[in-house]
Amino acid sequence: MTPLADLLLRRIRATGPITMADYMADCLLHPEHGYYTTRDPFGAAGDFTTAPEISQMFGELVGLALAQSWLDQGAPSPFSLAELGPGRGTLMADLLRATKGVAGFHAAARLHLIEASPVLRTCQAQALNGFPCTWLTDADHLPDQPLFAVANEFFDALPIRQFTRDPAGWRETLIGETGGTLTPGLSAVAPLAALSHRVCDTKPGDIVEICSSAAPIVEALGQRIAAHGGAALIIDYGNWGSKGDTFQALQSHVFTDPFAAPGLADLTAHVDFRALATASPTAHAFTDQGTFLTRLGIAARSARLAAQLTGDARENHLAATHRLTAPAEMGSLFKVLALYPANAPPPPGLN
Ligand code: SAH
Repeated sequence: MTPLADLLLRRIRATGPITMADYMADCLLHPEHGYYTTRDPFGAAGDFTTAPEISQMFGELVGLALAQSWLDQGAPSPFSLAELGPGRGTLMADLLRATKGVAGFHAAARLHLIEASPVLRTCQAQALNGFPCTWLTDADHLPDQPLFAVANEFFDALPIRQFTRDPAGWRETLIGETGGTLTPGLSAVAPLAALSHRVCDTKPGDIVEICSSAAPIVEALGQRIAAHGGAALIIDYGNWGSKGDTFQALQSHVFTDPFAAPGLADLTAHVDFRALATASPTAHAFTDQGTFLTRLGIAARSARLAAQLTGDARENHLAATHRLTAPAEMGSLFKVLALYPANAPPPPGLN
């Protein structure tokens, strides 16, 4: 049993079953035993890999899209360049390298990284190689100024609650104990105002997930973008709307039982992009990752890099391009939601 499982079981015995959101929050960010607080989980030796870790092209193209959007809006200075959940800092390092040639962009940028994990903050500082940066724990603390932001695989890590539709209301998934192990079960039926808008598009037995911490974060980004200009690119796996059980655990690149080893596996859920878009006072645009990267010119960038490579390095690079864009790989499952001011064009790649 992991130390966190022991701690959670004791808590459940004392005060009763806990919500999936409480479970997820402790598994990921418990100060002593949390998954992200204690490790760097990325790469072949870790538990999962992400688009910026697959290829430098991802951060380069995201960076150039944000820089073009900054130019389209009159190159405001100063502005916040922000990333939520920057992981190893790879995306930001690639973004900064790719935008070096955009006149005035670096001089105007005030870099803010929103990161909860002390271990990953250290990795990010190394990746940034001296570029001045402020770390924040919360998007609410971003300054009131134009904001150009990116979040890749951040929102999937935020805790969700899960509800099963019943003819008379909803039953919430709660984590309790059976025979000394953590076991999910369903609460008694209750009506739920927060899900009243889902009664007409669900039937008894359907599962709906809500992520209550996501909306305030998107609102904090959207308010700054609506008031001062800017854009946010939110990239993740998920759909327009939430339906079905998408709660999952990954350990060493294999899906595992999310309740088997709390604190040792990455826990995520698919992102409900409709809920994010609804929370922002800005205009929004939505597409899939494959379309987004293709419109931004990944084919040309990939061919350019391939021309400098031979053998395995060339094969790996071409495989990475395919992985990021092909519909059967990350191209369709991953989506891009852009937030931007109603009086500005959407960031490149979105239309
Ligand atoms: N964007 C990176 C990493 C994705 S993993 C990449 O694409 O490789 C999720 C990241 O979000 C990690 O850096 C994790 O520590 C951070 N994170 C998760 N929950 C968070 C929270 N509530 N507040 C701030 N950062 C969080």
